[in-house]
Amino acid sequence: ATKKAWDLLESGSSSLDAVEQGCMIEEADVNNQSVGKGGLPDRDGNVTLDACIMNSKGDCGSVVYLKNITHAISVARKIMEETPHVMLAGVGAEKFAYSLGYKKEKLLTDKSRLDWLDWKLKSEYKPIINIENHDTIGMLAIDKNGDISGGCTTSGLAYKMSGRVGDSPIIGSGLFIDNEVGGAVATGLGEEVVKTVGSFLVVELMRNGYSPQKACEEAIRRIVSKKNSNYKDFQVGYIAINKSGETGSYSIHDGFSMTKYENNLNKTFKSNYYSG
Ligand code: ASP
Repeated sequence: ATKKAWDLLESGSSSLDAVEQGCMIEEADVNNQSVGKGGLPDRDGNVTLDACIMNSKGDCGSVVYLKNITHAISVARKIMEETPHVMLAGVGAEKFAYSLGYKKEKLLTDKSRLDWLDWKLKSEYKPIINIENHDTIGMLAIDKNGDISGGCTTSGLAYKMSGRVGDSPIIGSGLFIDNEVGGAVATGLGEEVVKTVGSFLVVELMRNGYSPQKACEEAIRRIVSKKNSNYKDFQVGYIAINKSGETGSYSIHDGFSMTKYENNLNKTFKSNYYSG
């Protein structure tokens, strides 16, 4: 994904094209069971996708509970660019995608179906840290004009309740961009990100002088320092970029990583983490 995004940026494309097409790589990868086609289903066996995208002008588009279409990120972009709305959900979103020419696809692969059938034997629902029955892709890019965009796409938590929506399509929670300041994206247990409006918080902290790294750390601190927080049982991770291209990443637990393409190097970094 980062290689694709970098190639586009190098050939002069916008940060918006870079994050969209980068996210599409993971959406199409059937071996990735937490994004797009091949994603693990909800407890009824339906793969439902959430995604959002935001550009440097502050425009955004989001798609919620999308079935049968692999490239949720592109549908989100079209919602931003071709409708008067920010979010479309469920059958309405699917209908909109078909009107654009998208074809109905089967998103549940044999592997994900078998995993789901296996899960059904006990039907115990519990997000598992880093075994990742979850793991969204969130991308941030800055282009040659210094314009920042971000994208975020996921099949959400595996075996979630039917109808459940996480943070990933919620602007301000799963993703936020302010081109004057920077951008942030989240992964992990969406409910906890929504409760602290995580990505907006990271960007606001940067606006107030925090580095991207310190801003991610403070946003994680807000979650773990809540009274009676059961943070030991879940993972949340943030990545952030500021206007000068500095980046940061931080998570609650070990096991979260960020891949950065910079100066011709495509490198995955292990994030620092809280763990407590
Ligand atoms: N944040 C996503 C959700 O809660 C899942 C994940 O990133 O692991 O739907």
